[in-house]
Amino acid sequence: MVNLKSGDRVDCRIKDRVIVGPYDDHDEIKTFEIVSTDNYGYYLFVPRYLIISGSKITDIFRCRQLGIEDRFADEQIVYITGSMVSGISRQDGMRCEHCKDFVLMASANQEDGITFKCYSCRFNPYR
Ligand SMILES: [Zn+2]
Repeated sequence: MVNLKSGDRVDCRIKDRVIVGPYDDHDEIKTFEIVSTDNYGYYLFVPRYLIISGSKITDIFRCRQLGIEDRFADEQIVYITGSMVSGISRQDGMRCEHCKDFVLMASANQEDGITFKCYSCRFNPYR
């Protein structure tokens, strides 16, 4: 298993809302942020708008048990084994403050100078 850590991002293949293996038939590839690891795999943050089979809303107690940062409490988390990683994403970017989507090459665009809001959220606040 490649040595990945929290904060790293991985690409996974998805078929019918299920994360499938790197050589499996798939509908799309999504990039996920690793929020914790164990000996066999990774806990990934799943943005709210995504429906991924096996993902669960994780409360703060479970976060602390799993070594996940508190800010991911009440967010969706899915566990995958190391063999489900189809690629490692090393590109720069930022996570949208509103929908939590990760946008490649994005930089801060809000008044505070440190947060980012994606194009879709800026033009549709009800997203
Ligand atoms: Zn957004």
